[in-house]
Amino acid sequence: MSASPLPQLRLSAPPLSGRIDTAVTLSTVARLVASGVAVSKADLVAAAGLARTTVSTAVDELLARGVLRPDGTRPTAGRGRPADRLALSPRGGHVLLADVGARGAHLAVADLRQQVLAHTHVDIDVKDGPDPVLREVETGLTALRAQVPGGVPVRALVIGLPGPVDGQLGIPVRPPIMPGWHAYPVEARLRTVFACPVILENDVNLRALGEARALPADQAPLLFVKVGTGIGGGLITREGTLHHGADGAAGDIGHIRVRGAPDIACVCGNVGCIEAVASANAIAQRLDTAAVARPGDTVAVGRQGDTVAVGRPGDTVAPEAMTVADVRALIARGDPTALGLVREAAALIGEVVATLVHFYNPARVTLGGSVTAASDELLAGVRSVVYQRALPLATRNLVLTNSVLGEYAGLAGAMVLGIERVLSAEEIGALGQSRK
Ligand SMILES: [Zn+2]
Repeated sequence: MSASPLPQLRLSAPPLSGRIDTAVTLSTVARLVASGVAVSKADLVAAAGLARTTVSTAVDELLARGVLRPDGTRPTAGRGRPADRLALSPRGGHVLLADVGARGAHLAVADLRQQVLAHTHVDIDVKDGPDPVLREVETGLTALRAQVPGGVPVRALVIGLPGPVDGQLGIPVRPPIMPGWHAYPVEARLRTVFACPVILENDVNLRALGEARALPADQAPLLFVKVGTGIGGGLITREGTLHHGADGAAGDIGHIRVRGAPDIACVCGNVGCIEAVASANAIAQRLDTAAVARPGDTVAVGRQGDTVAVGRPGDTVAPEAMTVADVRALIARGDPTALGLVREAAALIGEVVATLVHFYNPARVTLGGSVTAASDELLAGVRSVVYQRALPLATRNLVLTNSVLGEYAGLAGAMVLGIERVLSAEEIGALGQSRK
């Protein structure tokens, strides 16, 4: 008998535990109620696959701790007595949410029933560095808390940042557009301020998760591509969870180089990255070169063929550089030069998306970000390249569309992470008990 040429291989086996931990049971029951999958003890027995007495004990415990509350009755089939309905209690805990973009942050307070109790938008500039930006976020969240019912503890805080993050360490990792943020202890700072668990996540990952959970389960795997100031991606697995990769860098698609792209220098130090040639920033720079009038500008009209300087009447200095907001406004009002650049960007982004579609075979590709919000031009361009380039099996059932949640996708993803964290087996033990 000759020796096998192969080493011993690991075969997968589903985890199975004869004695299920109480915290796991409490977490499962609370999450099934929170998701609306099961709202009575009978539903829970069927959905969780647990014994009736186990479910009953867990429900009583969650009622006693104020996590669940009775929510009326509902008729049962046949002549049975109506079943008691269960719901998450509005006083079980609050989650604080912060979706921080390059120039602004959406902040919100929500309860465990997914009710947004208060929300606001604050102007920030991540280039100002971590201390002033986080101070703004802390002040904003504290002000929102003052607007909602008191006496309910904060159980988790979720913050998204527009750059790569290490979720385990709770720090940004060399974020290209965020000077001063590298390795800043974001998670530790917020945990100290709000005395609750803090989750740090990349902003596009939050959008991807929010989008996927707002859609039916068959819309995953879902690939979210954000085209705004920069370009980023987020991937939701078929099971509906975020794919982080080994170090949390999965989905960071902005620095993929695309065939035929001009050799424009990127913030990352390479040339020809998709972000450097097709983002709103890239379009703004090319519009600067093209000297297009900004919204609100009065432009002197010369003879055909004249070179027209752009600026406000009386300007003696060179006009300011075009901003991303200017680009959005130009696209929205149908400026032909701007739309031409969006079409060029769409063709390049389409190449990247076609490659990713081959690799991941997503059920849905969602486009989001300021450029997609301003016009359908980008979606149309990306669609045409993807359907032309990707093979039929990968596109047969592919849905390629704009975000359904728009600018609130990030808050939605943060809410999902926050509530799931609070109801996790690790954290649920703290519910109904006051924190010291
Ligand atoms: Zn790059």
